[in-house]
Amino acid sequence: MDICRSKSAIRALVAQWRSQSVPVVLAPTMGFLHNGHLSLMRRARLRAGETGKVVASIFVNPTQFGPNEDLDSYPRDEARDLELLRLEGVDAVFIPEVSEIYDPEAQTIVETTELARMLIGKLRPGHFRGVATIVTKLFNIIRPDAAVFGEKDYQQLAVIRRMVQDLDMEIEIIGAPIQREADGLAMSSRNVRLSPADRARAPVLARALDQAEELAPSGITASRLRSHVRATLEAEPRAQVQSVDIRDAATLAPISGPLTRPAVLLLAVKFGTVFLIDNRVVHPAKERT
Ligand code: AMP
Repeated sequence: MDICRSKSAIRALVAQWRSQSVPVVLAPTMGFLHNGHLSLMRRARLRAGETGKVVASIFVNPTQFGPNEDLDSYPRDEARDLELLRLEGVDAVFIPEVSEIYDPEAQTIVETTELARMLIGKLRPGHFRGVATIVTKLFNIIRPDAAVFGEKDYQQLAVIRRMVQDLDMEIEIIGAPIQREADGLAMSSRNVRLSPADRARAPVLARALDQAEELAPSGITASRLRSHVRATLEAEPRAQVQSVDIRDAATLAPISGPLTRPAVLLLAVKFGTVFLIDNRVVHPAKERT
């Protein structure tokens, strides 16, 4: 496995692969890897094939963190991450310093307008501008044929799909399903920062989503489904509910009345200082096969 810390090193490596006409698939991460990340590497391998190349990136991107967020306390373990990626059969890792990526004189950003201002974008102003900018930079540095992102960050995936379409980027975007712990908690690098008491209670997000999935085919309205989920979360005293939304699963547009199309429930909940998100696409009865 090649470890590239500079843009020039990863560019030279990918150029060499490109001259052999093999597909290159990127899976971007912020490190402190867990099984959710490793599932992206496996999905990337599926797309790349035996002869293709899988590139992981590890970069805790400062521009997607707000001033009062957890950039400084974001967990890191480079040696462990590299070992996990090596065991997974990843071909190369791009792991730059912040100074390699951001020129202090830079003046250009990438912004997805409406989609990035709603939902998590409202709770974390500027977050998706940071995401869209770093993903564009990674795409330009590595020039992959395809890139894999987790459905865990549902809105992020929507923002990236929109950006790629709007800016005519010739990169296939692949979504990968949410990986969960045995008790249902969606895997996240932030889970290690939960206190034992909060960790014990955090599966309430998955439980609320399970209930929503069961209720969705009953003809329930979007707003009642949302209230039901909120009530389940609020019954957990350790959970500070930040937002509960129900949106059209394809467009993230607000919905009302009985469900007629797939809808996505999007949750953001804080436990102590730890910000957790989760989501589930639910289906009305006639959608079910
Ligand atoms: P992060 O390191 O948190 O920025 O995540 C890097 C990528 O891994 C993103 O595309 C995430 O959506 C994805 N990811 C994180 N957690 C999970 C999970 N539990 N299941 C699937 N994908 C995930």
